[in-house]
Amino acid sequence: MIISGKELSAKMKAAMAEEVKTFPEKYGRVPHLAVILVGDNPASVSYVTGKAKASAEVGIKNSTIRREATITEEELLALIAELNADDEVDGILVQLPLPKHISEDKVIAAIDVKKDVDGFHPANVAALWQKQPCTLPCTPKGIIRMLQTAGVEMAGKEAVVIGRSNIVGLPVSKLLLDQNATVTIAHSRTKNLAEVTRRAEILVVAIGRPKFVTADMVSEGAVVIDVGVNRDPETGKLCGDVDFAAIEPKASVITPVPGGVGPMTITCLMENTIECFLKNR
Ligand code: NAP
Repeated sequence: MIISGKELSAKMKAAMAEEVKTFPEKYGRVPHLAVILVGDNPASVSYVTGKAKASAEVGIKNSTIRREATITEEELLALIAELNADDEVDGILVQLPLPKHISEDKVIAAIDVKKDVDGFHPANVAALWQKQPCTLPCTPKGIIRMLQTAGVEMAGKEAVVIGRSNIVGLPVSKLLLDQNATVTIAHSRTKNLAEVTRRAEILVVAIGRPKFVTADMVSEGAVVIDVGVNRDPETGKLCGDVDFAAIEPKASVITPVPGGVGPMTITCLMENTIECFLKNR
C-alpha cells in the first residue's frame, strides 16, 4: 500500500477550511501565520510558497515577510519581537536554514513559545520529552498521522529511525516511543546499518541522501516512511532516501517522494497554526 500524503493532506485541509470558515463569527477573525524568509535560497522559496498556498486553501491569513540575506541577527530578532507583540499574529515561523552569521538557536528561542507553530522552541522540545502538552513538530506529527490513517499498529513493533536531527529523527523517535513502539535510532556512526534496518517492522528514513536505502536493507512486509527530499543525480528529479522502485514490492506500506511526508508537514503546520490561535484566545 502506498500512503499518499497528498490525498490525506487534501482531506485534512478541506476539514480545516470548514472549521476556519466559522471563526470570523465566533472569534472575529481567522488565524494568522507570519512566515519570515531570509535570502533567496530556491528550496526555502519553494517551501515558503507551499506554506502560503496551503494557508490560502485552509482560509488562514498568511504574511510572508522577506528580508535580504544581509539582515543582521539583531534586526531579525527585532522583527520577531514585533511579531511576538502583535496580538493579530498567531503563528511565527522562520524558514531555515539561515545565513551563517545568524544563530538559528537564538532565533528559534526568540519566538514566543505560544506562537511557535514549528514546535522547535526549546520549551516545546522539553515539553515533548517530558510528556507535557506542547506543539508537536510538523514532520514527525505528519508521519504519525499517516501511520495511524493507514491503520499501522505501532504498539510493540520494532521501529528503526535512521537520522537523529532535532527536526526529524529525534522527535519522530519520541513520538513512536509514545505509541509504544520499541525504537532504535541509527546514524552515520551505526555499524552494520543493514543488519539494524532489516530488524525494522517500521523503518523511518531521514538522512538526506538519494536512494540510500536499498532493497537488501528492508525486510519483507516492513512499513517504510521516506522523509528524504533529494535530487536524483541521474534524472535531476525529486527523490527520497529510499529506492522506491526496488522497495515498494517488499514493503507492506510505503510513502512516496514527492507526495508523501512533504505535504503532510505543511498540513500539520496549518493544524498547529489553528491550535495556537484557539489556545491563545
Ligand atoms: P540532517 O540534520 O542532515 O540529519 C541527517 C541524519 O542522517 C543525521 O543524524 C546523520 O547522522 C544521518 N546520516 C547521514 N549519513 C548517514 C549514513 N551514511 N548512515 C546513517 N545515517 C546517516 O537532516 P534532517 O534535517 O533530519 O533531514 C533529513 C532529510 O529529510 C533531508 O533530505 C531533508 O531535506 C528531509 N526533510 C524532509 C522534510 C519533509 O517535510 N519531507 C522535513 C524535514 C527534512 P549523524 O547524526 O551521525 O551525522
